[in-house]
Amino acid sequence: MRIQTDTSRCEGHGLCADVAPEVYDLDEDAVVVLRHDVLPEALRAKAEAGARACPVAVLRVVE
Ligand code: SF4
Repeated sequence: MRIQTDTSRCEGHGLCADVAPEVYDLDEDAVVVLRHDVLPEALRAKAEAGARACPVAVLRVVE
């Protein structure tokens, strides 16, 4: 399981990292950074909650 993202569209709101700091972080330019290349199953629900929180919908959890 992975997270697909389009960092060029990230607006740096940080809501993903607020909801799921185990999964998402922001770099010094306030662009989303994924903490895991391959997402552990135990973090699926967190990852999906963070993706839903993104106001510009650039995060997607995929198998
Ligand atoms: S919530 Fe969306 S726009 Fe905001 S930092 Fe996360 S990925 Fe970027």
